[in-house]
Amino acid sequence: MQVTFWGTRGSIAKPGEPTARYGGNTSCIAMRTGAGTQLVIDCGTGAHGLGQTLLAEGIKRGHLFIGHAHWDHIQGMPFFAPLFVPGQEWDVYGPTGLGGSIRNTLAGQMESTYFPVSLEQLGATIRYHDLGETRFQIDDVTITTRYLNHPALALAYKIEADGGGVVYACDHEPHVREAANGTAELTGQDAQHAAFISGADLLIHDTQYTAAEYPNKVNWGHSTYEYAMLVARTAGVGMLAFTHHDPLRTDDQIDALLASARETMLAAGSRIELFAASEGLTIPLASTDGAGAAAPPLVAPPVREVRNALQRALFGMTDPGLSALFFEAAATSGIDPLFVADSADARELIHGQHVSLAVVEHDPGNLDALAVARMVATANGASRVPVLAVADREVPGGEAAGISEWLIRPFSSTYASAKMQAWLLRGKSRWKKAPLPVDEGKRLATLHSLELLDTPPEPRFDRITDLARRIFDVPVSLITLIDQDRQWLKSCVGIDPIEAPRETSFCAHVVFERKPMVVSDTLTDDRFAENPLVTAMPRVRFYAGAPLILSDGECVGSLCLIDTRPRHLDASNLSVLEGLRDLVVAEIERAA
Ligand SMILES: [Zn+2]
Ligand SMILES: [Zn+2]
Repeated sequence: MQVTFWGTRGSIAKPGEPTARYGGNTSCIAMRTGAGTQLVIDCGTGAHGLGQTLLAEGIKRGHLFIGHAHWDHIQGMPFFAPLFVPGQEWDVYGPTGLGGSIRNTLAGQMESTYFPVSLEQLGATIRYHDLGETRFQIDDVTITTRYLNHPALALAYKIEADGGGVVYACDHEPHVREAANGTAELTGQDAQHAAFISGADLLIHDTQYTAAEYPNKVNWGHSTYEYAMLVARTAGVGMLAFTHHDPLRTDDQIDALLASARETMLAAGSRIELFAASEGLTIPLASTDGAGAAAPPLVAPPVREVRNALQRALFGMTDPGLSALFFEAAATSGIDPLFVADSADARELIHGQHVSLAVVEHDPGNLDALAVARMVATANGASRVPVLAVADREVPGGEAAGISEWLIRPFSSTYASAKMQAWLLRGKSRWKKAPLPVDEGKRLATLHSLELLDTPPEPRFDRITDLARRIFDVPVSLITLIDQDRQWLKSCVGIDPIEAPRETSFCAHVVFERKPMVVSDTLTDDRFAENPLVTAMPRVRFYAGAPLILSDGECVGSLCLIDTRPRHLDASNLSVLEGLRDLVVAEIERAA
């Protein structure tokens, strides 16, 4: 087994000349066993370089352990290249925190406010495992975990393979304040911390502070190097690596601190090999030869104890088409689906199984979504489980019954999947499809009578969109027609023509509202922030549309402006857009 340091800095990345030797990247280490099992512990900024190297080496399978979810331990994850590559397979492990599963915690830092790609969009096959204090086996490696003393729920990992053992303990503060000096004997939880580490060949320990600095850093969640040395001696390890170096600590200061630490160790008659972790350093660990005690034998046959973080959802529905749609949506969302077709089965399941979400077709003869929502609320008490009701229109009393959101038919499995993921992650989706106008039947009849759908581009329309684009200095202008379930572009400048589903259409909102709509920044608008046209190409950031209302009163589409930057339109700009819109309507009616 070998261990390589990719990030050794604590708290924040600190590149530059004073930190060049020990490294400026935050926590990340890689381990590989003789049989080739690839492990990564922590995913600070050091993970960027590691990811590139693993790809270059052709590694396709790995296990990523997160000690805790403070930024300096996860910030490299969105830049860890293997996770983006289809065909890669990674298992991610971390402590279950107050914010729920490790998956949800990691998804948080990839929400669109912070990062352009969401966790769901990563190309690799990724499985998430929530850990507590446990012991389990992965191929040729045994992993044991123990909680550390830190403001966030943090785990130490003991990794045993090839006859050797490594413990990674970041971030951790002495349980007893006096222990920070490294002079008193360890007691209580500090002694247990050492007992957990006992027998490791290599201990990689948080040593952010010195005993002299510690009185001003109490409760910050970190160790002194003096404490780490005492723990190492008590545990009888072979080697101790100082890591999680304070961002203010220069290389020269680390050298000095290390020299003094070595003197202390010699004076104490200890033969523990001390070093400070530095980026790029690789430590080969031969099988145990007595430098450290042999790893304790497993007490029982190794059991894979990790709980797969798949979320289970109840799907109550009678319509086979709807079931098929949600079957697909559940598969893409990593949801384990449990289908029932009547209230009795729903009741039995709700009381017998823990579900994270329920989706119920409101079909009063067989399934009453309101009644099911009440059952779910009764069964789950204070821990509210979201209930999504599927119907052709909203039914009064839904909110009181506990229905979280109505999904109004028709919609695609992509829409269903986005809604379910949003509710599972944080209870609110930021993508709303436009409601159907009350005159929808008549509106469609008017649209179809125009015979404009699926006709070739015409200069008389393209002239107007081109003009709009120049006047407003936007990259894209469109004339859209909102058909039954699609948005079709009669004119399109600045972008390749794309036919979009109606549920993603901004212009469908304009058609419903029958008045101009300006969205200055889609990312701050709850109707659009998670619309696929915003989160993926063409990455709409600004939208302004004016409705195409014909002389018979029907609204068939919109003349719109799109930009990939946020912008504002004032009232006089808007009246210019409406003037251009009038030209479009005149052209449409001329043809009709
Ligand atoms: Zn940290
Ligand atoms: Zn921390």
